[in-house]
Amino acid sequence: MKYYSTKNRSHLVSFKHAVFHSLPADLGLYMPERIPKLDALFLRQLEQLSLPEIGFEIAKSVVGDEIPPADLRKIVEDAFNFPVPLRFLGSSDAVLELFHGPSFAFKDFGARFMSRVMAYLGDEKRLLDVLVATSGDTGGAVALGFLGVPGTRVTILYPKGKVSSLQELQLTGHGQNIRAIEIEGTFDDCQDLVKKAFGDPELEGKLRLTSANSINIARLLPQSVYYFFAAAQLRSQGMKELVFSVPSGNFGNLAAGLLAQKMGLPVQHFVAATNANDIVPRYLEGQEFHPKASVQTISNAMDVGNPSNWARIQDMFQHERSFIKEKVSAFSFTDEQTRNGMLSLAQEHNYIACPHTAIAWLAAKVYRENHPGAYSTVTLSTAHPSKFPEVFPAELAARIPALPQHAQLGQGKRHTVPMAANYQAFKRYLLD
Ligand SMILES: *Cc1c(COP(=O)(O)O)cnc(C)c1O
Repeated sequence: MKYYSTKNRSHLVSFKHAVFHSLPADLGLYMPERIPKLDALFLRQLEQLSLPEIGFEIAKSVVGDEIPPADLRKIVEDAFNFPVPLRFLGSSDAVLELFHGPSFAFKDFGARFMSRVMAYLGDEKRLLDVLVATSGDTGGAVALGFLGVPGTRVTILYPKGKVSSLQELQLTGHGQNIRAIEIEGTFDDCQDLVKKAFGDPELEGKLRLTSANSINIARLLPQSVYYFFAAAQLRSQGMKELVFSVPSGNFGNLAAGLLAQKMGLPVQHFVAATNANDIVPRYLEGQEFHPKASVQTISNAMDVGNPSNWARIQDMFQHERSFIKEKVSAFSFTDEQTRNGMLSLAQEHNYIACPHTAIAWLAAKVYRENHPGAYSTVTLSTAHPSKFPEVFPAELAARIPALPQHAQLGQGKRHTVPMAANYQAFKRYLLD
């Protein structure tokens, strides 16, 4: 399968090139040359298939012949090795728990697949240097995805004092091929340092740098898989019509769902749920698409003022707002509404959710009020609630769940170096 840049359809590259280069030089995003239609038999038999079986079919269709099927199957089985339960809260509203992987957030799907694909395709003798700037969840998933992968070294930049204590453990607790830098600054500073490194010709000659951020196509594609798996689980309960509600920040998750639909998954509608960073809901209401500085909220993994994957969604719908609106409704919620959502999930359904999940649950409710009908809603649950104990409403403090048994947090020793937000210092560190 070839990939094109959303800024230039005739700029075609291999899957491997798209994976290792993340971004085309024109700063578009890579998309598959054509969105493959999945086999009708596969779609009919969905409910008989396991998560890795579904994952293999999808991966095969988007990767093409650059990875032989037997090897791709192994990559998928190894990447998707955790459960993805669908929990019903009421007769036709469910939550799909995507947080049972090692970092307790859905970013494990993308990070685990991408790391294995990079290790497989990275046939060169030189060490692969993976750089990632994180505001919290991405760094943890990427660290665990690459931990112990031969031929790779990960450098994570995170803003001092701005990640939760559990997130910091996930970034700094490993050692081995995972290095963390605590930047005296904000997430934007971390991102700037990484971008400067990619644009530095001296580094390009000396290191084999690649990025693990969410613009990488190898992080996006594997996220389509759980949409099919949710449909499979619903069908096995006799339910067919399906509405997904997606907690959204950078809009990779929603883009992956829309991709699944274009591959042939029957989905009645998508609901995009945001916090106060409401640029997409405003755009769908008719306003201009105006990126702005992000606003800090209690659902901090969704604090994105300029959602980069929106370019992919625009591309899938010929840049026509009306086409997008046929498939997607979007709603935004305040922090107070989010806390109330967490409370009502606990009180009415005895379900403890993270703030991101609570927002999507609220959005699904609004959609149902406006569109009565015999469909099921599936709210994507993107993180384990124990990742965000700081933001729980006081009424629920006693009910914050304990960390799962399989928590991999390293050995207690911290592997991190403090650094000013200074490019020369960062460059010296990389070359050292
Ligand atoms: C990253 C993240 C999101 C936002 O997902 P996007 O694909 O960026 O829209 C939502 N919830 C959690 C917990 C996350 O870590």
